[in-house]
Amino acid sequence: MDKQERKRILITGAAGFLGSHLCDRFIAEDFDVIGMDNMITGDLRNIEHLFKLPNFEFYHHDVSKFVHVPGKLNFILHFASPASPVDYLRIPIQTLKVGSLGTHNLLGLAKSKRARILVASTSEVYGDPLISPQSEEYWGNVNPVGPRGVYDEAKRFQEAITMAYHNVHGLDTRIVRIFNTYGPRMRLNDGRALPTFIAQALRGEDLTVFGDGNQTRSFCYVSDQIEGIFRLLFSDYAQPMNIGNPDELTINNMAREIISLTGNQSKIRYVPLPIDDPKQRRPDIRKARRILNWTPTVNRKEGLLQTINYYQQMPPEELKQKNF
Ligand code: NAD
Ligand code: UDP
Repeated sequence: MDKQERKRILITGAAGFLGSHLCDRFIAEDFDVIGMDNMITGDLRNIEHLFKLPNFEFYHHDVSKFVHVPGKLNFILHFASPASPVDYLRIPIQTLKVGSLGTHNLLGLAKSKRARILVASTSEVYGDPLISPQSEEYWGNVNPVGPRGVYDEAKRFQEAITMAYHNVHGLDTRIVRIFNTYGPRMRLNDGRALPTFIAQALRGEDLTVFGDGNQTRSFCYVSDQIEGIFRLLFSDYAQPMNIGNPDELTINNMAREIISLTGNQSKIRYVPLPIDDPKQRRPDIRKARRILNWTPTVNRKEGLLQTINYYQQMPPEELKQKNF
C-alpha cells in the first residue's frame, strides 16, 4: 500500500482483551492503528509488542472526556468499557459514562472525521432473556435498576445514540452484539467464569460455581469473534448484529470440562448466584451467516486448550494472585 492509501483506525479499549486482539488484526492488515485506553481494566502488556512499530500509536486517555485525534481517521472501533460483572459492579459510574458520554464523544469524532464507526454492544442488551436463542429482533428483559443495569443500560443507550447519529447525520455506523468471548489476554482475575475457573483449576482449588450451575452460556473463541467483527466493519449492514458461538452449555458442564482439560483434581463448590444473573444465553447467528458469510470455526476443546496454555505460561506468582 502506498502512504497515500493507508487507512487509519482508532481502537478504544486497546489495552483490554478484545481491543488488543483487534489492534493485532489491523496491524496485520497494514493499517495505521491508534490504540486508546485509560487503563481502568486494561493491561499494557497486551499491546507492548506493538509499541516498537511505526504504524502503531498509543494515547492514554479516558474516552468519557472529550476525544481529540489529530489527522485523518477512516475507522473507529469503540471497545472501551469494563466488561466483566465484577469490574462493572466495582466501577458502575465509569461504566455508565463510557457507554453514554464515551460513545457520544466517539460518534462526534466519527462525524467530524467522516469515519465509519463500529461500537461494541453485548448480549446483555437481552438481559435475562425470555426466549432462546436470542435473535436481533428480540428487545430483551433488562432490570434497569438492578446491579447489572449499569452495564446493560449503558449498552442499550449506546445502541440508541448510534442509530440516532446514523439516522439524523447519515453517519456510517455498525453495531456488534458480542456474546461471551474468551481466549488469551483475558485478565486472570477479572471475575468472569472462564479465567476464574481456569485459574482455580491450575491452582488445584475448588471451582466456584454460582447458583446451581444450570444457567447456560455459549462461549466464542476470540479469533472467531475478531473475524466476525472484521467482516461486519466491512459489510454495509448498519443494524445490530449478533456475533457469538451458539454452542450452549451449562456452567456446571463448563466447570467439569475445565477440570478435565487441566488434569487437576479440583471439585465444584457452589456459592450464591449474583442478582439478575441471566439463566440462559445463546445467540441466533443466522444474520451473521447470511450477511457476513461468517460462522465460528474453533471448537471449545481447542479454544480452551489454547487459553489454558496461555495462563500456564504466566509466572507462578501471578497465577497465585487473587484480587477478589
Ligand atoms: P476488557 O476489560 O479486557 O477491555 C476493556 C478496555 O477498555 C480496558 O483496557 C479498559 O482499560 C478500557 N477502558 C474502559 N473504560 C475506558 C475509558 N473510559 N476510556 C478509555 N479506555 C477505557 O474487556 P473486553 O472483554 O476486551 O471487552 C471489550 C468490549 O467488548 C467492551 O465494550 C465490552 O462491553 C464488549 N464485550 C465483550 C464481551 C466479552 O465476552 N469479552 C462480551 C460482550 C461485549
Ligand atoms: N460464574 C460462576 N463462577 C464464577 C464466575 C461466574 O459460576 O466464578 C457464572 C455466572 O454466574 C454466570 C456465568 O458463570 O452465570 C458466566 O459468567 P461471566 O461473569 O463469565 O459472564 P456473564 O455471562 O454473566 O456476563
